[in-house]
Amino acid sequence: MSTPIGNLRDITLRALDTLAGVDEVLAEDTRVARKLLDAYAIKARLTAYHDHNGAQRRPDILRALAAGARIGLVSDAGTPLVSDPGFKLVREAAEAGHTIVPIPGPSAMLAGLITSGLPSDRFLFIGFLPQKSAARTRALSAVATTDATLIAYESGPRLAAMLADAAEALGPNRPAAIARELTKRFEETRRGTLADLAAHYASAGGPKGEIVVLIGPAHGKETGADALDAYLQTALQELPVKAASEAAADALGVPRRAAYQRALALKASADG
Ligand code: SAM
Repeated sequence: MSTPIGNLRDITLRALDTLAGVDEVLAEDTRVARKLLDAYAIKARLTAYHDHNGAQRRPDILRALAAGARIGLVSDAGTPLVSDPGFKLVREAAEAGHTIVPIPGPSAMLAGLITSGLPSDRFLFIGFLPQKSAARTRALSAVATTDATLIAYESGPRLAAMLADAAEALGPNRPAAIARELTKRFEETRRGTLADLAAHYASAGGPKGEIVVLIGPAHGKETGADALDAYLQTALQELPVKAASEAAADALGVPRRAAYQRALALKASADG
């Protein structure tokens, strides 16, 4: 079930009922969960369930479910399974035929999206990106032509480097927003292009607190994969791969690297 991402008042009434009513609550960190329970004077049996003990604990949890136990799952903040433990447990419980009941509530990705001012009709959550620059740039390049707002989680110390890689892989003019400390005292959303934001955090230093990075689609629908493919297919009839991809990148405002990779793929499938 979802729990607050900062402001304890964001717990839902149904989550409180459920916490009080289940036989056991699995918590990523029992001390964090205990604080929440104490704030609402709820006594519950808390046990630890996290990435390091999940494989070992799941058989016992599944046996308890089979015996009729009602078991809750919480993470430290927000919604379990969203860059947090729980996926394997839910999958195995579902496969075993147990009923999974969602108790929805806060998640930083959606809180960030609604404060960003970026298009919210289509979005892609990409979680935490790789920490090394080369792998991070590859991961960003893979979604460079996705016609959707991108949502990532990031830490303060890595933010400036991540934004610099994003400006390189996605293009410096993409609109973006940094949503920080959502629902907490120092909540702040900073908006600008990727280049502006990268420059700001490079000089100001990594901000404190928890951060969601949101990156808007480059130029709306026209820069989607379909538009890039259509442009490249025409250009490749007359130009070599490099020239065709540069023309497409300039015309559509997509990053050159992404246009080049797509042109190579189209050329290979046309030749093969
Ligand atoms: N399951 C959580 C959810 O539903 O949002 C996310 C867990 S993930 C381990 C933690 C990351 O979420 C943080 O590093 C940060 O990127 C983001 N986050 C969590 N709380 C936040 C907040 N109050 N403001 C901004 N970002 C937050």
